[in-house]
Amino acid sequence: SKQEFPIDQKVQTILNQFIVPKKLLDDGIDLFTKSMDEGLRNPLAGSSFMPMIPSFITKIPTGKEKGLFLACDLGGTNFRVCSVELNGDHTFNLEQLKTKVDHSYMVGDSNNLFNFLSLHVKEFLEVHHDEYLSSNKDNQRLKMSFTFSFPIDQTCINRGKLIRWTKGYDVKDAVGQDVIKLFQYTLDQHKLPVDLVAITNDTVGTLLANSYVSNTSNQTLIGAIYGTGTNGCYIESLDNIKKLKPETVEKLKSKGQNYMVINTEWGSFDNRLQCLPNTKYDEILDSETPNQGYHMFEKRISGMFLGEILRLVLIDLNQKNLLLTEFYCSEKNDKPITLPHRLLRPWAFQTEVLSKLEIDDSTDLKISKLCYDNDLRLETTLEDRRIIQKVVKAVSKRAAYLSAIPIAAIILQQNDGKPPKEEIQVGADGAVIEFYPEFKEHIMEALRLTELTEAGAGKIKFTIAKDGSGVGAALCSKTAETLS
Ligand code: ADP
Repeated sequence: SKQEFPIDQKVQTILNQFIVPKKLLDDGIDLFTKSMDEGLRNPLAGSSFMPMIPSFITKIPTGKEKGLFLACDLGGTNFRVCSVELNGDHTFNLEQLKTKVDHSYMVGDSNNLFNFLSLHVKEFLEVHHDEYLSSNKDNQRLKMSFTFSFPIDQTCINRGKLIRWTKGYDVKDAVGQDVIKLFQYTLDQHKLPVDLVAITNDTVGTLLANSYVSNTSNQTLIGAIYGTGTNGCYIESLDNIKKLKPETVEKLKSKGQNYMVINTEWGSFDNRLQCLPNTKYDEILDSETPNQGYHMFEKRISGMFLGEILRLVLIDLNQKNLLLTEFYCSEKNDKPITLPHRLLRPWAFQTEVLSKLEIDDSTDLKISKLCYDNDLRLETTLEDRRIIQKVVKAVSKRAAYLSAIPIAAIILQQNDGKPPKEEIQVGADGAVIEFYPEFKEHIMEALRLTELTEAGAGKIKFTIAKDGSGVGAALCSKTAETLS
């Protein structure tokens, strides 16, 4: 292992604020379990507790499903359209077209946003399924599901009113509206042979996709996302979902359906900050966001925020004369030279950059130096680079440890508070869990510290299904077909 270098006590004190001890995990799991129960009882979505949104998905794929379906996915960064041919044997063929959502669509009006999405659907059909646009297909229409990863108030499989935006979006007139209606309207304006049949969430898609591709008999219990944002869903028994109307439950049960996938919206776990760590960096970050006071869990964990937490710590360290003092704040002539412009701009760091800094083990941290020189025009000494790497590791490790709370809570809740004896699959997706070095390993490390114990934690398998969100959404259309 590498030689440790001595670290200034004042810097260490700041790093220590990012440690997540066992007690915090245990308290977090307790509170998460209570929040789940509260959310399952309370039909008033949109307040300060975890929404626990019924997905109206009551069937879990077996891998035998067949058919051609369209799916589209609006995430924090991209819009993807795809077609999925389910082959009925755990395999599929997928075509997709992806576009970055320009900031102007995230903050304009809803027609502007959905018209942009419809044009992209049109382009996709022109490239991959021209036959449906010409008369060759006898006016056949395609079923599409919409993966819309923002909190919605859903009343059935294809109706969902937007509760509020997250992840930097702020299309005001869409709040409170049924997003399926808004989207279908613009699809119809372009005369596209497409019917939106389901609205779903990336977490639900991830869970379904994992169940479809997996050919083990072990159930996928949880779908979890760690990307621009974080969220998760799991399979809950209908009897526990107290907020469902009794007639709805009865109707489902009469069809032999006994459970439903619940989208927890765990990004807004502990918005009241009863147990989450709350450093002054977290406070400043929250004040910089459009959804201040909401998604407090997400703001400590997901890709959109880690870079900003890092930036705020670095600025603070510099102001305390503990970092970047050689070039940027000379005590000698007692006139501080300000930090480079880029570092002073909120949201300057991308999580990809943190990934690179975290794993840099080059001599004198030369790779990090390149990052600072090129991405931020920031001059650093070796000592600076060592400190920054420590901060990066502290921020990302806290994120991964906190990420273990919902996973442990859900598994314990489903197992009557005991560690599981059988293997449990967690279908995961998102660039952070996929690419951030050690992120998954740190989640596992934290899980072993909880009441799951080493043995129980050892039963948990994270799997990342390739193209999960597209396949999962296609499976929602399939479910919509069988439910109607
Ligand atoms: P979305 O959640 O928008 O569907 P992704 O799953 O691709 O999209 O997540 C994007 C987030 O992941 C961004 O915050 C980005 O900074 C971060 N990210 C992308 N690549 C990496 C990487 N190699 N390492 C760490 N984080 C990454």
